[in-house]
Amino acid sequence: MQFSVTVLGSNSALPTSERNPTAQVLNVSERFFLIDCGEGTQMQMRKNHIRFTRINHVFISHLHGDHCFGLMGFISTLGLLGRTNDLHIYGHVDLEMVYRPQLNYFSKDLKFNVKFHIVNTEVSETVYEDNKIIVSSIPLKHRVPTCGYLFKEKNPELHINKSSVDYYNIPIKSIPLIKKGSDYIGEDGSLVPNHLLTKPARAARSYAFCSDTKYSEEIIPLIKDVDLLYHEATFLSDNENLAEKTHHSTARQAAQIAAKAKVKLLIIGHFSTRYKDMTLFEKEAREVFPATYLAREGATFDIPYLKD
Ligand SMILES: [Zn+2]
Ligand SMILES: [Zn+2]
Repeated sequence: MQFSVTVLGSNSALPTSERNPTAQVLNVSERFFLIDCGEGTQMQMRKNHIRFTRINHVFISHLHGDHCFGLMGFISTLGLLGRTNDLHIYGHVDLEMVYRPQLNYFSKDLKFNVKFHIVNTEVSETVYEDNKIIVSSIPLKHRVPTCGYLFKEKNPELHINKSSVDYYNIPIKSIPLIKKGSDYIGEDGSLVPNHLLTKPARAARSYAFCSDTKYSEEIIPLIKDVDLLYHEATFLSDNENLAEKTHHSTARQAAQIAAKAKVKLLIIGHFSTRYKDMTLFEKEAREVFPATYLAREGATFDIPYLKD
């Protein structure tokens, strides 16, 4: 029951020889979700052994090139690989307006549908849901309409209380529904309430991706208590004015958000190219929020599956 994030790019807009623009892959029990798709994402996926064909859903935070310039190349490659499954892309309403003409020009013979799903970046709403996970948007404050995404495991199953199940002679075929919260009703109509047969479920795991944004406490209720928060930290505090002006955050501000939201772990990234020593970001953030880690290319952050 994997729930992990792999960083494919940690840099902001200008390219460097060591760091790539924003892209991440979330693995939820071997379902892969691509989050942003900066230039070079395909190469980063190759390097990190992420199979292109496993990606069915792509979430784009906003229409700045360092978050979406890799999309056209990625889709084109999927065509070359002979994909037939639909590809779902979530993002601002303009996303389809920008990419449909390119698809029509470069990839008109695709054997799969590219389906764009409009995300309202102004309010938090559910943008995707399946039996394992629910994804909702996190409105952010940037120079163009932008949202982050909250990925949350859906209703983990209750644990079976084995001794009670044996005591009440519950047939095996009834167990799946009991794990989902149903009472047991015997053939004679007798009822055993669910709480006698189960123990509480483990907590649902969650990941919040927040890039790009200036410091905004408005996101705190939406990301409260998440296991893992990615928050951009484009600058250090010596450039706080520049952060404010360009609608970005400093490492300290990212840490302040993490502390106020009481998250368990913070990853910071989207570093400005002007900085060469990334450990300064970690140092600054850890003064406020010690459980801070750098989003380095290829790093995987695993949220453990805790049984009880
Ligand atoms: Zn950016
Ligand atoms: Zn941006």
